Amino acid sequence: MLATVMFGAGDVRIENVPDARLIEPTDALVVVTRAAICGSDLWPYKTMEYSETGRRMGHEAIGIVEAVGADVRTLKFGNVVVMPFAYSDGTCVFCHEGLHTSCIHGGFFGTRDVDGAQAEAVRVPQADGTLVVLPVGTDDALMPSLLTLSDVMATGHHAAVAAKVGPGRTAAVVGDGAVGLCGVIAARRRGAEQIILLGRHPNRIALAREFGATDVVSERGDEAVERVRELTDGFGVHSVLECVGLEQSMRTALSIARPGGSVGRVGVPQDETMPASRPVFYNNVTVSGGPAPARAYIEELLPDVLEGRIEPGRVFDRVVRLDEVPGGYRAMNERETIKVLIEF
Ligand SMILES: [Zn+2]
Repeated sequence: MLATVMFGAGDVRIENVPDARLIEPTDALVVVTRAAICGSDLWPYKTMEYSETGRRMGHEAIGIVEAVGADVRTLKFGNVVVMPFAYSDGTCVFCHEGLHTSCIHGGFFGTRDVDGAQAEAVRVPQADGTLVVLPVGTDDALMPSLLTLSDVMATGHHAAVAAKVGPGRTAAVVGDGAVGLCGVIAARRRGAEQIILLGRHPNRIALAREFGATDVVSERGDEAVERVRELTDGFGVHSVLECVGLEQSMRTALSIARPGGSVGRVGVPQDETMPASRPVFYNNVTVSGGPAPARAYIEELLPDVLEGRIEPGRVFDRVVRLDEVPGGYRAMNERETIKVLIEF
């Protein structure tokens, strides 16, 4: 079968690889019908050292169950399923707490343990706990929005949860990538009365406004902090959704939280240390977040997608076939596009 393999920075190829197959009795084999390129795929795209064997990419997918292992109970051939970016058993102590990304039998797609989903098929470990059956056909018009439940919409939602967004509160979203835009959707969905987007790309800002952003701050650094304060009676916001992961974006996020506020960070941190330690301390700012337990959120978000109350699929502004995926990485990396959908 064909799959996306990254061999090093800037070097993504579509390769012939051994067919995905069942290995464990708890596995499902899923034929992929939609996948995506993620902003987090761009970190290795910028920095990965050359590897002879390469890395199998992709952790967002919708597909059709082709086969299930002997211990799989809830899935059958032909089910249309969405795959969260992490697999999980659904039964351990952390899954019961809704923290599926810490599942003691879990892990992440597109890593050394499990192959990626930018491929014609993918092996899904812990299939009963991981996959969610969708009540639609594979060509449903809602497919792009349903696909965001794999990662970006769930991650934006997680940022809003971690930042304690709620009715009557003010929120700021740092980052205008797909996750930041989904963070705007999530902040509005949770009732924030003011939603400030920190971003600078006109097409992304326009989409953010349609998603519910009330204000936009395009400055950076100290000027951005100043602007947010101006927009919030000088105090800063109750809730900050940090959706980038760089030192500067984190510093900005921590600096625009008002005293007693919360920062929910979902941008994968690119640094070992966290900046702005003193203002965070003196302002009693809560810092939370991490990888989103997407599996925990799909059931909550799915009805909103199915009934059209949220349209996170609008973050996809380019569709490619599998053989065009290397160009998709390039386009996303050069910011020609917000997020790339892969159709099979
Ligand atoms: Zn678990």
